[in-house]
Amino acid sequence: MTESEIKEKQLGKALLKLTQKYGSPLYAYFTEDIEKNYRKLRSAFGDEGVHIMYACKALTNLVVLKFLKKLGCGLDAVSLEEAKLGLLAGFKGREIVFTPSMVGGADYDKAVEYGLRINVGDLQALEYMGKNHPNYPVCIRLNPHVYAGGHEKISVGHVQSKFGISIFQMDEVLDLVKKYSIRVDGVHMHAGSDIQKDEQYMEAIGVIFGKAEFFPDLEYVDIGSGFKIPYRSSDTSSNLEKIASFVKEKLNTLSVKLNKRVELLMEPGKFLVSNAGYFIVEATVVKKAPGKTFVGVDSGFNHLMRPMLYDAWHDVINLSNPNGKSQKYDLVGYICETDTFATDREVAEIRVGDFLTFKNTGAYGFNMASNYNSKLRPAEVLVHEGKDYLIRRRETFEDLISTQVLPDLFY
Ligand SMILES: *Cc1c(COP(=O)(O)O)cnc(C)c1O
Repeated sequence: MTESEIKEKQLGKALLKLTQKYGSPLYAYFTEDIEKNYRKLRSAFGDEGVHIMYACKALTNLVVLKFLKKLGCGLDAVSLEEAKLGLLAGFKGREIVFTPSMVGGADYDKAVEYGLRINVGDLQALEYMGKNHPNYPVCIRLNPHVYAGGHEKISVGHVQSKFGISIFQMDEVLDLVKKYSIRVDGVHMHAGSDIQKDEQYMEAIGVIFGKAEFFPDLEYVDIGSGFKIPYRSSDTSSNLEKIASFVKEKLNTLSVKLNKRVELLMEPGKFLVSNAGYFIVEATVVKKAPGKTFVGVDSGFNHLMRPMLYDAWHDVINLSNPNGKSQKYDLVGYICETDTFATDREVAEIRVGDFLTFKNTGAYGFNMASNYNSKLRPAEVLVHEGKDYLIRRRETFEDLISTQVLPDLFY
């Protein structure tokens, strides 16, 4: 057995044990992996003047947020609710970048009240900040218009994307900045981690560094996230050293030009947490059909949506029968929609009652879960220094109806 096979065996046993203890379906996360990912970024980019703002929409459990804070992360929050979770987890206002899309003035008022770093992605918001909060610094989210490839729903830096202010509207940006004497303390760009090549990410980074020079009050450049991770064996991951050396050079040049030390922010989401998470389900039905074998599990796109939303690939392991003869299966959910997790997938023989795990589900797994079909959301468990902790209990039927109000009707 190779070292990685031994590791997988041990991991399988650990996940099986967690499932026996906490039930299925279950999300399990390992802090050890999150920390490894964090250290990789730090070793490539360094510490001094470098702020790793974890994009918490990937996984917002408070305990995970606290762990990331302890490691030395800030946060990227795309909604006020995420920012509030961050504050609750102990982050200070300035340690949170608020990067909403398409929100009105009230959200910016609150963001000012909380003291967040504010990242505006449209001219209306920029003008609103200038008019209503003239002394509050803002960061400007630019759309670099670099086609990053990848799935259309994840790719966000191209010309037709709703995100960011077009670099072709710099004149309008500069007019507003001048009109309201807005202090622009940062520029931002986010390419999306479905980016196909590091070169495309670097090209987009290069574009915003070019625009950064227009802002004499600039204190930081936020390169968002374009950090790719492998989901299947043929996938590549980002070359961090290459990206880091490119960024450092740009930072140095900009710092010289502006005659100050410009800092760096980045917003990795899935890079930090994806491979730290496992989603475990139970095989409930094995159904032979002509030319196919379907395996139904006690879950569906209500718990793990990425395969259906993005055609995402998640490796599957049969935890209960790891040495079984491998066969091809279609793994499907219990939702009354087409909710296929995997098609024609080789998995060790699956029997009813076996527990399976989907790998790489720490990011955009639980956080995209819903109550569709009136199904309950799973529990979340965190493994830290060899011990397991329940960090979100399984939902109950009472939770499901707890927000419904029954007026005195229809008796
Ligand atoms: C989602 C998001 C990220 C993180 O993206 P990943 O693909 O998970 O790394 C970073 N910044 C912003 C603004 C985002 O919306």
